[in-house]
Amino acid sequence: MKIKILGNGGAINDGLPYNSFIINDGFLIESPPDIIGSIFREKIDPQKISAIFISHFHADHYFGLPFLFLRLFFEESGNSIIVIGPDGIENKVREICNIAFGANHPMQKWIGKHVIYKEIKNMQEIHVDSHYRLRPIEMFHFTETYGFILESDGDKVAYFADTYWKNSLLEYVEDVDTIIVDLNGEKTDKTKVHISENDLLKYALPKTKGSVRFYGTHLRDNKISENGRIQYLKFGDEIYI
Ligand SMILES: [Zn+2]
Ligand SMILES: [Zn+2]
Repeated sequence: MKIKILGNGGAINDGLPYNSFIINDGFLIESPPDIIGSIFREKIDPQKISAIFISHFHADHYFGLPFLFLRLFFEESGNSIIVIGPDGIENKVREICNIAFGANHPMQKWIGKHVIYKEIKNMQEIHVDSHYRLRPIEMFHFTETYGFILESDGDKVAYFADTYWKNSLLEYVEDVDTIIVDLNGEKTDKTKVHISENDLLKYALPKTKGSVRFYGTHLRDNKISENGRIQYLKFGDEIYI
């Protein structure tokens, strides 16, 4: 499994490309407003994107969908795209595309024909296509939000999208060594909205096996960790599992 980081910035950041990554150049995780810039900078062919996961309906995670679909419509792509997301995913995608380009734009027809929706329900596992199995994980955020464990040919990656730390997250990482995690929190935060490196040091690292590595994303600015098991991501980074 190849994971390529397209962006590492959170909703509020100092000029980073917004948080997004792509698995095996075809399964896109999150679609932030600047997704077109990120996929072209990292030399991803938009027509090879066959599935998209949206963790929740905040702008930094899905406002890029209209631009991506507009592009595919203009390229006359004949490929279908699976879009996975929380309750109401189909309505949310239609709504944002209508706001972006109007209900009468011919791209809406392309969307109607080519986009297949898979809604996350009752934490049930989703068979994305013949390659990927996605097990949703409940996150703790202002709105319904999911992370996942994604498995392909025995390789696994976990993603903790926008969330504060809760010890229940530990149960999901027993057999996963690679965890991409929202690490936007700081030790000094008065209200905990995001996980911080301090949370990992205090609650996660002592309880996880030595092979587990945490990759931090959704940042305010680029950061470096002094702990060998925590690595802050930068755009362009690649992780091979
Ligand atoms: Zn976010
Ligand atoms: Zn959010």
